[in-house]
Amino acid sequence: MKFSLKGVVTAIGATVAIITAVSLPAAYFVAGYTSLSDRLAFEAELNAGYLAKYISSHATLWQFQNVRIAELLSQTDAADSKFKKRVVDSSNRTVLDAGDPPATPTLAGRKSVSVAGSTVAYVELEASLQHVVRQSLLVALFSGLLGLGIFFTLRIFPLRVLDRTLGELERSNGALEQINERFKAALTHMSHGLSMFDAKGRLVVNNDRFTEMYDISPEATKAGSTFLDFLQNRTLQGYVQGDPLTHGEKLQEHLSLVEPEAQVLAASSGRSIAVISNPLPNGGWVSTHEDITEKLAAQAKISHMALHDTLTNLPNRVLLQEQMEARLGQLGRDHKFAVLCLDLDGFKVVNDTLGHPLGDKLLKEVAVRTRKCLREGDTLARLGGDEFVILQTQVNQAEDASTLAARVVQEIGGPFDLDGHQVTIGVSLGIAIAPGDAASSDELLRNADMALYRAKSDGRSTYRFFEPEMDRLMQARRTLELDLRKAIANNEFVVFYQPLIKLETEEICGFEALVRWNHPVRGLVPPLDFIPLAEETGLIVPIGEWVLRSACAEAAKWPKEIRVAINLSPIQFKMRNVCQAVVSALAHSGLEARRLELEITESVLLLDNVSTLETLHQLRSLGVRISMDDFGTGYSSLSYLRSFPFDKIKIDRSFVHDLERNEDSKAIVRAVTGLGASLRMSTTGEGAETRAQVDCLRMEGCTEAQGYFFSKPKPASEVFRMLAERSAALSAVA
Ligand code: C2E
Ligand code: MG
Ligand code: MG
Repeated sequence: MKFSLKGVVTAIGATVAIITAVSLPAAYFVAGYTSLSDRLAFEAELNAGYLAKYISSHATLWQFQNVRIAELLSQTDAADSKFKKRVVDSSNRTVLDAGDPPATPTLAGRKSVSVAGSTVAYVELEASLQHVVRQSLLVALFSGLLGLGIFFTLRIFPLRVLDRTLGELERSNGALEQINERFKAALTHMSHGLSMFDAKGRLVVNNDRFTEMYDISPEATKAGSTFLDFLQNRTLQGYVQGDPLTHGEKLQEHLSLVEPEAQVLAASSGRSIAVISNPLPNGGWVSTHEDITEKLAAQAKISHMALHDTLTNLPNRVLLQEQMEARLGQLGRDHKFAVLCLDLDGFKVVNDTLGHPLGDKLLKEVAVRTRKCLREGDTLARLGGDEFVILQTQVNQAEDASTLAARVVQEIGGPFDLDGHQVTIGVSLGIAIAPGDAASSDELLRNADMALYRAKSDGRSTYRFFEPEMDRLMQARRTLELDLRKAIANNEFVVFYQPLIKLETEEICGFEALVRWNHPVRGLVPPLDFIPLAEETGLIVPIGEWVLRSACAEAAKWPKEIRVAINLSPIQFKMRNVCQAVVSALAHSGLEARRLELEITESVLLLDNVSTLETLHQLRSLGVRISMDDFGTGYSSLSYLRSFPFDKIKIDRSFVHDLERNEDSKAIVRAVTGLGASLRMSTTGEGAETRAQVDCLRMEGCTEAQGYFFSKPKPASEVFRMLAERSAALSAVA
């Protein structure tokens, strides 16, 4: 049975009110009634006594003495009592009937009058109860009001207080519930598992993540579960901790925690969980559990990535260097190891023509093939681009390294099939052997790299061992490079001019600008000694621009019909700002564009991209003439003549050199001049050193000649003298 607190309070209030309302008038009535009844009895007794005395003295006639009896009995009347009195004799005849009949309701009393032991009469008294009843009703009215008052006091006030208290309780309950809900939500949605154990090692609270993580059934987390149960479960799941503590010891360890403790649990399944336990103020501890399996895997991946190349998954430079250092540390008396630097020949062409995805594929294939050549313990690393390095460990003599190098050259030399594209590349290798060639990993790599440089310049698809001489040459090269950088700033370049002769009249029709380096120590350095290095280092761009500007400025001073020819390097075309440089040189010098000839070699066309031809056309549209220099030295000079409408072909001096003796050369020169004539291109024979050569060139149809026969390249200051001398010579002949 369920009692409502309000009902109980109402019932108590009503009961007390009813008792009050009923009991007061009832008590009052009873008291009034009893008092009246007592007085009636007392008066009846008194009257009976008087009457008995009177009867005994008037034994015979007393029945007729009613006036006397009335008088006698009236003595007993109290002032306030208005009893009706009646006296009857033993035969029940009325002797006296005094007083008015009282108002109803009434109360009657009767008393026998005994004389000498026998009853002779009865005294009957009757009084009105009306007064008592009326007063009782008044009391009832008052007590009813009082009861009502009590009811309200007992019900309304306590209930109001109760209501307020209950409201507050409800509110604080609501707040508590909300906190509980939030706490529950927080626990449920935590990415970490959470468990709390009390000072006896019993589970107090946990979240679902905790049970999920350890694959514990939710029943196992019911009341009464202990830490030891969980340890049991963890052991079954194959979680092992670093130290082989018993379960009891582990419990003790947790119970005696004073500061946070972290540990990693590793399961046989490969899962790892990081647990951080914090002691609680009243004993026990709370632990958070984080599944760090993926985090550890990611960390492992990151550290792998830090040491490996992403494309081929081969060790990278860092790991290679670590391994080399380790090897250098282990080197015994008879132990050697070799470092082989690999660089692919022709990789760039594949990458540029077939695209990067196939280039990447080729690199992966190269890695696979190279690894096949290695023995256990050897390492293949990729340093980037098409640079690979082999760390060969089992090396007794140099031949071991050269055998491996030869195998690699052979393996890589075989054709590759890249998504249906048949590709053939080569590989060049440079070898350095530790400890003989170097004492540190950096030096080893550098020396192997120098040997590689040599292998490349010796014709590629081969290998070379490091030699100390290479180091010297390299040093010299480095010094030259440093000097070259300084030379630009110090304005150490000068331009020499070599006349171009119109064969028809043998007049000077132009000059070729040829740069020289006025080295502070070495004196005049010819271009072939520094231009290749300037091209490699990109320094040719500022040098070339400088030549353009100064040659144009010089030529602007010459007679109007004299042209200037300037050489442009393929590297300048790669940088793509040649046009701008030419426009700027012309603008600054005020030289007419038609007086400028730009000489390019076919290697410019080897760059073979649309933008190269576009640049050439742009230059042509400025009015500048374009010549093909050193014609005949390349592989397919003829085909290049088709790709761009050159203004001039300069036949390489190797053909001019043996023109008189070699019929083939003569035939070639004839063919080229014929071709030039039909393509409306002029032809210049380079390197004409003798009159015979000059005449021969004219005979074979060449339009111009250039060579020591007329003049060596000379400083700008000599130009006017050369012009004057030439015209003097011509007029002398004439
Ligand atoms: P090139 O453009 O073929 O220049 C002609 C070269 O032949 C010059 O050599 C010249 O001195 C040389 N020569 C001329 N007549 C004779 C001769 O009768 N007999 C012999 N044996 N040689 C003769 P130089 O000045 O040493 O220049 C060599 C190369 O350097 C040039 O060949 C050119 O390709 C390059 N070069 C020179 N100056 C520049 C420049 O400013 N920029 C660029 N990019 N290359 C330049
Ligand atoms: Mg030239
Ligand atoms: Mg030339």
